[in-house]
Amino acid sequence: MAAPRQLALFDMQDYRQHKKYLDGVFKTKAELIQQFREEGRDQIYHVLSFGGGTQSSHLLEMHFRGEIHYDYIIFSDTGAEPDFIHEQVWWWRHRQRQVGNTTPFLITHHSSMERGLEEMLMRYILTDYQRFQMPVYCNSVNEDGEIKAGGMLPRQCTVDFKIVPVKQKARQMVLQRHGLGPKQMIPNNVAFIIDIGFSYDEIRRINTYQSPQYDYIRLAYPLVEANETTEDSIKYLEVNGFPTRRSRCYLCPFNCAAERNIGMDWEEIIESEPWSFVKACWFDTKLREVQATGTKIMRSIPYLHYSRRPLSEVFAQEYQLLSSAYKYELSRWIAEWQEYIQAKWGAGKDGIKHAGNHSR
Ligand code: SF4
Repeated sequence: MAAPRQLALFDMQDYRQHKKYLDGVFKTKAELIQQFREEGRDQIYHVLSFGGGTQSSHLLEMHFRGEIHYDYIIFSDTGAEPDFIHEQVWWWRHRQRQVGNTTPFLITHHSSMERGLEEMLMRYILTDYQRFQMPVYCNSVNEDGEIKAGGMLPRQCTVDFKIVPVKQKARQMVLQRHGLGPKQMIPNNVAFIIDIGFSYDEIRRINTYQSPQYDYIRLAYPLVEANETTEDSIKYLEVNGFPTRRSRCYLCPFNCAAERNIGMDWEEIIESEPWSFVKACWFDTKLREVQATGTKIMRSIPYLHYSRRPLSEVFAQEYQLLSSAYKYELSRWIAEWQEYIQAKWGAGKDGIKHAGNHSR
């Protein structure tokens, strides 16, 4: 339970009073600019990490209205966003043309796994790849064979599949702009500030303003600085008649049941994208099957659903109906992936790569 002082500060909803700010976990954009200038970096590029959902769309519209400056807008495709998020991204690209904004709007992806999270999962399932980058719910088995509810794995996918690719793309664009090659150093006076669309109510998600990969890149959280909540961004979009669906991957374990109303739910995936739901059920089952082989370093038993039950059981009726409707697509999709993973990452005939380690 949070200490009374902390609760009181949270209720005040002023980032300047929040422990994360007071402890220096993040800084304001003005402070970051000042810091860069003191380091001799006076050519600062401003980048929006666009996710296609509500908060970064709020920032994008502010940019279109001249209220916030960006040199680049970059969307990193995780390879697992629902089609309705891709549609929203295209909607915003169309709006950009309509309003005559010419800021480069770029699409990127993970540098070695271009097909994103589906590729990471297939690689994990079909080869000896050991890095598991998704925040799944876990059960653990104790020495007596008892199954206990464990925690959740870290949300590493957001960093690896969304934030790092945006940093890499921004760096690549600026190197090109300065007439430099991809392996050359960023000039000493150049820096980047990447805006992340976390809201004040998501302040717990802020871990740092620094970039472990590049010391000339820092992260800013303009909606937190404005003390804006997710609900504020949704209202802003609604009032203007803009799309309001929240961005996430179709198989994201943070998708909830409708009664846990955080604006993202499995029901929406089932209704809008039944095929994606069938794929999510397949991944959910396969992950536990592969854990049972004992070939993985991860020892926990993973689940995509917060109840730590198979998705195909939680939504049994829907699964029964949809798995037979998509039976053919599913077997074709698996065969295509097996071929792709084998060609790229070297899975053996049994689908498991037994030698070498391609972890990156
Ligand atoms: S939406 Fe979920 S699965 Fe996708 S990158 Fe974010 S945390 Fe990972």
